[in-house]
Amino acid sequence: MSAARPGPAASAALRRLRSAGGNGGSQIQGTPGIPRRSRRRKSVAIAYEPGQGEGAESRRPRWEPPNWREQLERIREMRRSRDAPVDDMGVQKCYDSSAPPQVRRYQVLLALMLSSQTKDQVTSAAMLRLRQRGLTVDTVLQMDDETLGQTIYPVGFWRNKVKYIKQTTAILKQKYGGDIPSTVEELVQLPGVGPKMAHLAMHIAWDSVAGIAVDTHVHRISNRLKWVKKETKNPEETRVALEDWLPRELWREINWLLVGFGQQTCLPVNPRCSQCLNQDICPAAKRV
Ligand code: SF4
Repeated sequence: MSAARPGPAASAALRRLRSAGGNGGSQIQGTPGIPRRSRRRKSVAIAYEPGQGEGAESRRPRWEPPNWREQLERIREMRRSRDAPVDDMGVQKCYDSSAPPQVRRYQVLLALMLSSQTKDQVTSAAMLRLRQRGLTVDTVLQMDDETLGQTIYPVGFWRNKVKYIKQTTAILKQKYGGDIPSTVEELVQLPGVGPKMAHLAMHIAWDSVAGIAVDTHVHRISNRLKWVKKETKNPEETRVALEDWLPRELWREINWLLVGFGQQTCLPVNPRCSQCLNQDICPAAKRV
């Protein structure tokens, strides 16, 4: 596919990126609090190659997509202003930061449960209404289903979510002393909690990175950029494919980067390729 010529705004941003020395990046610019570690391939390979040191198989070079470092650096540049909906109203902004840690973690999990199939703005407003009622395990258990439904409406699938929230909250009370579990394996056992939510709960609530949180944005963009060896059918397949090659120190940042990028530029329908800094190195770029 022939390379497209970037428009004036994209050209200016690319010049800025190049003059700043952006070539795959020595600095991780993710969400606040992301550890800034050097990205040395050697340490990553030691930690994550299965069968390391077990013979010829372990010495085979690991597959990685062409141009991914440059594509990533350009996405960082496009996300520099941090002004996507996820930046202001994402789950990490929905909990009461002055609440006790156990309550904060519960609120993170609840925001994640509300957020599926729901715009960040709607989740954020529903969380605000819940917090005005005092959002704890005990207040939710005392709330009748109708009140809970009216409070979270119009989040997507709100009737199902009322049921899942009540069931999950009862389990947290009985089995975890009112806290949320601290492993992905236990989190995905909770009603209404899928792998993406579990990984984000680990990132946000426990400050622990157990895997990549792959939602519809991360899934779609990974396939457009060909960051997966062969096309993946769903977010869970994409998570496995990305974790196979993406250096672990990027596992937390990648969700934040791609979600906002997917909200603003690489839209599900009619992506804004003419405004995208990656248009000349993206296999899916629309040349218009
Ligand atoms: S599909 Fe378009 S918007 Fe998305 S990364 Fe490729 S060039 Fe950018």
